[in-house]
Order: sequence, then C-alpha cells, then structure tokens
Amino acid sequence: MQNTPIVAFDQVNKSFGNFVAVENVSFEIGRGEFLAIMGSSGCGKTTTLRMLAGLEAPSQGRILLDGEEVGDKPTWSRDTPMVWQSLALFPFLTVQENVEFGLKMRKVPRKERIERARKWLDRLGILEFADRNIAQLSGGQRQRVALARSLVTEPKILLLDEPLSALDAHLKVRMQSVLSNLQKDLGITFVYVTHSMSEAFSMADRVIIMSRGKVEQIGTPEEIFHHPTNRFVAEFLGSSNIFTGVISSVNGDTLSVRTKEGVFEIRNQKKLEKQAGDSISFTVRSEQLKLDLEDSKPLLNSIVATVVGEEFSGAMANIFLETADGLELQVQKPHEEIRKLGVRHNRNVVAYFDPDQCHILSEG
Ligand code: ATP
Repeated sequence: MQNTPIVAFDQVNKSFGNFVAVENVSFEIGRGEFLAIMGSSGCGKTTTLRMLAGLEAPSQGRILLDGEEVGDKPTWSRDTPMVWQSLALFPFLTVQENVEFGLKMRKVPRKERIERARKWLDRLGILEFADRNIAQLSGGQRQRVALARSLVTEPKILLLDEPLSALDAHLKVRMQSVLSNLQKDLGITFVYVTHSMSEAFSMADRVIIMSRGKVEQIGTPEEIFHHPTNRFVAEFLGSSNIFTGVISSVNGDTLSVRTKEGVFEIRNQKKLEKQAGDSISFTVRSEQLKLDLEDSKPLLNSIVATVVGEEFSGAMANIFLETADGLELQVQKPHEEIRKLGVRHNRNVVAYFDPDQCHILSEG
C-alpha cells in the first residue's frame, strides 16, 4: 500500500448538463506530497477538488483514494476534510467547540475531544483564544481555527480551496509559511487549489495547470517555470515573448525559424524532433531579452520595436515594447541599466536574444 499513490484520477470527466467542466483528467498524488491545482477562474479546479472530497460525483472515469475506488463513497466516510476560502466556521460556537466539532461527529469521548482540540489549537498558536467567539478573531486567527478544525481528525489528506485569498498581502505570506511548515512536519498530503502563481510555486512540490477543464501541464514549479509545454502555460505564467514561425533550415542543434518578425536562429536544446517545414513556437524570458538603441550595429536575432510602457518595481524595470506588426514584447532589466541606455517612451529600440536563451514549446 505504501507505494500506491494516495490519490489517482483516471480519465475523469464531469459535466453539468451539456457543459463539460472537467475533461479527461488523469493524475496521481504521492503520499505526503503538496500538490497545487492552478488555473484561471472557471477552469475546473474547484470541481476537481470537490470530486475528490465526494461533494460531486464524476460523470465518467475513476477516482482512487489510497488505491480504493471511491465512486459514490459519501464525503463523511472519505477522510478528506476541506478548508475553504470562506472557512465555513460555526459563528455560534467558540473556537474550541469549532475545533472539537469533527471529533464530536465521530463520537470521540468528551475528555479526549478536549485534549485533542487543545493540542491542535496550541500547535497552531491560538490556544489563548480557545473560549472566544469566531467573530472576535482576526482573519489570520480564523484561518488557523479552520486548519485546526480540519487537522484535529488527523486525516491523511487535506483539501484546501483558495484558503488565503481573503487575506491581505502580509498575512498571506505569513500563512503560506505556516501551511508549508505544517505540511512538512505532519507529512499529510495537501491538495491546494489557487489561481495565484506565487502561492502555488512557493509551497507546492508539484503544480497542475488547468484550462477549460483540461490539464495543460503537471510538473515541479521549476519544470513548469523553465519549460512550459505550450503557449497557454507560457502566457499564463506571464511570458509575453512568444514567437511563432516555420523552420526554414536545420543545422545540428541550430534551427533557423522564419517568423513575421524576421528569421531567428535558436538552439534546439531539448533535441526535439524538428525538421524544415515544421511549425514552431518558442519563448524568450523577459530577463533574457537584451536591449540596445536602434542605431547600433546589426545584431543576431534582433527585433526593432517601440517602447510603449515602463513599470518600475524596486531595482528592476519592466519595459513594454511593440513591433510594427503589433507583437508585444517585455524586457526586464535593472533600473540603472535602462537609465544608462536612455530608454524612453515612444523611442525605437532593438530587442535581441541569444540562440541558447530560447525555450521551444513542445506543443506548438
Ligand atoms: P474559480 O477560480 O472561479 O472558483 P474554478 O476553476 O474553481 O473557478 P469550477 O468552480 O471548478 O472553476 O467551475 C468550472 C466550470 O463549471 C465553471 O464554468 C462553472 O460555472 C461550472 N460549474 C461549476 N459547478 C456547476 C454547477 N453545479 N452547475 C453548472 N455549472 C457548474
């Protein structure tokens, strides 16, 4: 049993009437893994989580928990508690009573209930609020009560649906480290739904990116960030420098690609099967795109574009460019470098890149 994944989705579909909310989704989650499901609003992430919790039944396919198909198994017998954005705490019960609730439902004797609830309140640093009403707590304290209430039954897996989205930025970052440390200490599997890349990438061991009911990519944050498989994932992660064209020649690992913006040389580092005549898309990360002024000497892989916007955050500047054909590019450079170069709004500049600093999208 130890090597069986704790969760397996096998070609799962979920339709609401004629609308397909989740389509042919398959993935596995390892024991003790922190998995984030990420995607924009309406992509099917909550429906996926709700099927795991038993709050929705799949229309087709199988869901296995600990190797056992759960099909119609009711929520209460699945041992998959869920923490919601709204928290769904009982306002008429005290903190302690909220945390004890799940144990009471399981008929755990009173003395043991109290001890276990206090242990989790203590562990989450909120024991001093045990007798307060929920209304007398801050957002972060309520968050901890919701976690204590789910963890008190000592489940093997905890489902979290956008649990931090109602918190302010500072508290969000603090709670991210609380969750991350808790998950590592307890060794419980966490399945965490979010639309926030920073939450998913800072906490999860692996991330699933969904769009329109389908899985677009599954991988570690590093794999997804550096090697998005397709245009959707690249754009979702904020990469705006995506070039599309046709391969005009292949010379070893070097591909010549004809695009609307010109002919570029790129290195096929992953040695993907590519030949002349194939369509291809590739990205260049904004920090790897270089900038020069238009009147400088000709450069390899260069594109003339106009500066249409600037954004400064701390020591870094994001420069937004647009080519005559309407391709939008983004360059990220230290503020100082931009100042020295004399980059100004409406000025024409040359953006260029090294053949080694491209990433070919494997799915066009
Ligand atoms: P969000 O981030 O906005 O919560 P999500 O990715 O979690 O989005 P889901 O809640 O899984 O999205 O919904 C996926 C799609 O299924 C949406 O288009 C939604 O309108 C639809 N949907 C969800 N539940 C139902 C339902 N009970 N009846 C009909 N359609 C539904």
